[in-house]
Amino acid sequence: MARRFTDKQLIIASHNPGKVREIDDLLKPFGVEVKSAIELTLDEPEETGTTFVANAILKAEAAAQASQLPALSDDSGLAVDALGGEPGIYSARWGGPEKDFDMAMRKVEEKLPEGSDRSAQFICALALAWPDGHTETFEGLIAGSLVWPPRGDLGFGYDPMFLPDNRTETFGEMNQTEKHEISHRADAFRKLVAACFA
Ligand code: IMP
Repeated sequence: MARRFTDKQLIIASHNPGKVREIDDLLKPFGVEVKSAIELTLDEPEETGTTFVANAILKAEAAAQASQLPALSDDSGLAVDALGGEPGIYSARWGGPEKDFDMAMRKVEEKLPEGSDRSAQFICALALAWPDGHTETFEGLIAGSLVWPPRGDLGFGYDPMFLPDNRTETFGEMNQTEKHEISHRADAFRKLVAACFA
């Protein structure tokens, strides 16, 4: 049985403004006062885990310990089938220090052998950590395929090259409300809400 979230405040353990905005939106219905690791100037721990879940736990536990408040982290990325799951947990790192995702998308496209399967998934692991050391984790996924050239300038990261299955718009072309209904993050969130907030 998962632990219920009964606190008033929650730290979003992320320095990625795109993610903070999305998580803030997803948490709005629950009346929780949300602050981000950016506002609290918390350090970003090194992501030394080898899975999305391990890295999510690292980030949430570091923020919960530093702030002595419950903290929610998201570790996510794009896993491309024909690249054996790359960039995967290295999705952010492929953008380099400049966080240049036009370059990262080009890198994905260049690595894809011609004529290969273009299927990919966005994966999201969420970890909710309390300062007493208890942590809950959840995983979500959305399946799709990669388009080239990228389309749309909404969203962030690899959104413009990701076309969800059974859709005509990439994540870069979809408004946030539409993306929130189907995204990997929304999928993980539904599981988190059902277990800890409902
Ligand atoms: P993390 O902060 O290590 O979890 O980095 C995840 C990276 O994966 C982000 O910097 C994005 O490049 C990519 N990513 C994760 N979720 C999304 C999404 O919803 N849209 C586009 N890119 C995403």
